[in-house]
Amino acid sequence: MALEAVKVAVRVRPFNQREIDRQAKCVIKMDGQMTMIYNPDAPNEDPKKFSFDYSYWSHDGFRMTPDGSAEPVRGSTYACQRTVFDDLGQGVLNNAFEGYNCSLFAYGQTGSGKSYSVVGYGVNRGIIPITCDELFKTMSTNNDPNKRYEVLFSMLEIYNEQVRDLLSKDNPKGGLNVRQNPKLGMFYVEGLKKVPVGSYSEIEKRMEQGTQSRTVASTNMNATSSRAHTVVTIVFDQIIKTNNGETKKSSTMNLVDLAGSERADSTGATGDRLKEGANINKSLSALGNVISALADLSMGKKKVMVPYRDSILTKLLQNALGGNSKTIMIAALSPADINYDETLSTLRYADRAKKIQNKAVINEN
Ligand code: ADP
Ligand code: MG
Repeated sequence: MALEAVKVAVRVRPFNQREIDRQAKCVIKMDGQMTMIYNPDAPNEDPKKFSFDYSYWSHDGFRMTPDGSAEPVRGSTYACQRTVFDDLGQGVLNNAFEGYNCSLFAYGQTGSGKSYSVVGYGVNRGIIPITCDELFKTMSTNNDPNKRYEVLFSMLEIYNEQVRDLLSKDNPKGGLNVRQNPKLGMFYVEGLKKVPVGSYSEIEKRMEQGTQSRTVASTNMNATSSRAHTVVTIVFDQIIKTNNGETKKSSTMNLVDLAGSERADSTGATGDRLKEGANINKSLSALGNVISALADLSMGKKKVMVPYRDSILTKLLQNALGGNSKTIMIAALSPADINYDETLSTLRYADRAKKIQNKAVINEN
């Protein structure tokens, strides 16, 4: 069983209108695999440097330097949705066909481009839709009469540490139960709908249904920001008839759009919103603790307890983090000076995630 590190991609979104109006400065520079962040309050300070597996720039053709002037982009180039799919989604797909579990999650503050990357908006489809589309396209090229496929789709959200089935109209009060399989040790959501799907357009409809039933609230950061973690799970089985029965290759793909990573106090949240913030932070800080523990383990530290049980998110992502899965993290970044603190904290988070070693095996029986 080979160890393989979590792959980490960083993606900078373009300036939004508000930032353009107030002439925000760009604090991020990318050069090849290097990402540099400049402290806007300390212009003479050297930038902090990071290096990741993939770096995506979103400003077409040029970039703003920290002093506000423009310079041509070298190294990292403008990345459209297709480029990101070609690097990340295609790999997920290839691994799924080989029978590996795959996980992909997007981390970053609200408005940094998580949903854009993972789900997309309108014609700018993100990784999940393109991957599903390509999955069915690849399946349709199969001309082996002894091979058939089964695809199950589910979609849930974790909101205030409760699980809601986004494909179900009647969710129990208090949320669905998360249970642990006594034999395998894995956590699962009891009673979650897993819908068999036979085409990409069926998945599209289910995604639409799921997106409609998400819990959405507004904060100062973003009028329609999701305060919940959204998890799309696709179980992809390949069943092959043999002389003495059948063999099955199975891949579970977990594709996660995390809630905003910003601290509650920077969003002006009060009352219920604040409670939400605390719970979101509970799941996200648990995720952070799991990532730190796994990073320590990979650095040779002994007797590290990995606190998967501390939140629903980390229970459900147990395989994705240090377990039987090939995993990709996308760190979504704002380019703007005003978001410097959050962006730096996202880069540090991503830097730790790089160190996680997973043990993916082909699921075949
Ligand atoms: P998040 O999910 O992290 O809260 P969104 O994905 O909703 O953020 O992105 C916020 C806004 O920025 C959206 O209007 C989105 O269309 C835009 N955006 C984000 N990333 C990109 C990108 N790479 N290219 C173009 N627009 C983007
Ligand atoms: Mg979002």
